Amino acid sequence: MKKILLIILDGVGDRPSTSLNNRTPLQAAYRPNMNYLAKRGLTGVVHPISAGVAAGSDTSHLSLLGYNPKEVYTGRGPFEAIGLGMKASGGDIAFRANFATIDDEGTVVDRRAGRNSYGTEKLAKELSITIDDVKFFVKEGVEHRAALLMRGEDLSPDVSDSDPHVTGEHPRKIVPLSDNGTKTAEVLNKYLEEAFRILRESNVNSEREAKGISPANALLLRGAGVVPKLQPFEERYGMKGACVAGIPLINGIASLCGLDVHTYEKGTGTLHSDFFGKTKLAVSLLKKYDFVLMNIKAPDIAGHDRDPVAKKEAIERIDKAFSQLEPITKTTLVAITGDHSTPCSVGEHSGDSVPIVFTTEGIRKDATCAFDEISCSNGLLRITSNDVMQYLLALSDRAEKYGA
Ligand SMILES: [Zn+2]
Repeated sequence: MKKILLIILDGVGDRPSTSLNNRTPLQAAYRPNMNYLAKRGLTGVVHPISAGVAAGSDTSHLSLLGYNPKEVYTGRGPFEAIGLGMKASGGDIAFRANFATIDDEGTVVDRRAGRNSYGTEKLAKELSITIDDVKFFVKEGVEHRAALLMRGEDLSPDVSDSDPHVTGEHPRKIVPLSDNGTKTAEVLNKYLEEAFRILRESNVNSEREAKGISPANALLLRGAGVVPKLQPFEERYGMKGACVAGIPLINGIASLCGLDVHTYEKGTGTLHSDFFGKTKLAVSLLKKYDFVLMNIKAPDIAGHDRDPVAKKEAIERIDKAFSQLEPITKTTLVAITGDHSTPCSVGEHSGDSVPIVFTTEGIRKDATCAFDEISCSNGLLRITSNDVMQYLLALSDRAEKYGA
C-alpha cells in the first residue's frame, strides 16, 4: 500500500484571459513539475460536488475528503465560525452574526455598526458567557462580522434569525421552527437580552462613540446550522491523516473529519506564502501519516482579486516547490486538483470544472502531457469531487473488494 498526498490548489481553475494571450493562468504558467506529474500520471477533470456547481471551499473540501456535503452541510453558520478559527465540535449550533447599531427605542439603524471593527474582539470576549446549561462563544470577524457558537444538550438549528435583515425594525425574537427548536429559541432569547445589556454597558461602546464610530450595541443572528458530527477519518478509511493548510476554514474542516492539523510556522494562506517550506512539511508528514491533505490558498486569492497575471505567477512559485514531489512518487500516490474554479474574469467561484492528476510509479497513465484545464480534459477521468477519495484508495491499493 502506498501513502497518499492530496494537494488542493484553492480556486485554481480559470478561464482564458486576454492578458495571457487567451490562455488560463495554469496554461500560461511555467510549470515543469506539474507537467512532469501529468506526463506520468492519470488525468482528467473534476466537477466540484457535481456538474456546474459553484462550490464553496467548505463544501468542496468535505466532498474531496469523501463526506457528502448534501448529508452533512446544514448551513453556513458552522463553517463561518470554523473559518474564524473557533474550535467547534459536532453538535454545536452556530450562527453568522453582525454587530449592529440600535437607537434608544431599540430600532436597528445600522445593521453593520459602521462596518467598523473597533473593540469587537473585546466585545466578543464579553459576550462569551453561559446561560442556564448552555455555553455561548462569540468570535469577531472582519469589520462588523462575527460568529456565535452555542454548546449544550438538546440544542437544534431549527430556529429563526434575530436579524430583521432591514433597518427601521427591532431585532426579531427568535422563534422555534419545529418542536426541536423550543429550548434553543428560549435560551437564545435570554442570551440576546443579556447581550444587549452587556453591549450597552461595555466601555468599548463609550470609546466608539467618543471616536465618532457607531456603537456596536446589538448582535444580530442569522443562518443557524449544526456543526456536523463526522465519522472520524481513520475509522472511515483505516488511515491516519494530517492536514497542512493556511486558513482556519480548511483547518477546521480537517479537524472535524479527524485529521491532525499541522500549521506551517511561517504562516501561509496568502498570495506570497512560503510554498516550498509548506510542501516540505507536507512531504515530511508522510513518514508519520498514511494520508496528508495540503491546501494552497494563493490561486483563489488572485482569482478573487481578478488578477490573472498574479495567479499565473503564484502558480509558478507553487510549481517550484513541487520539485519535491517527483522523488516521492515511488512510495506515494500524489494527487493535485482544485476545490473549485475562481476565474479572474468572474472574481468569484464558478461552476467550471478543475483539472486533476494522480501520479505514482506503475500507474496506468494516459496521453496527457501538461497539467491545466484544457490538457487534462483530454485525460481519462470525468469525475466529481465525491469520487476523488475512492480513486485515492483504489490507486494506493487500499480499496476493499466489492463482492466475492
Ligand atoms: Zn474563494
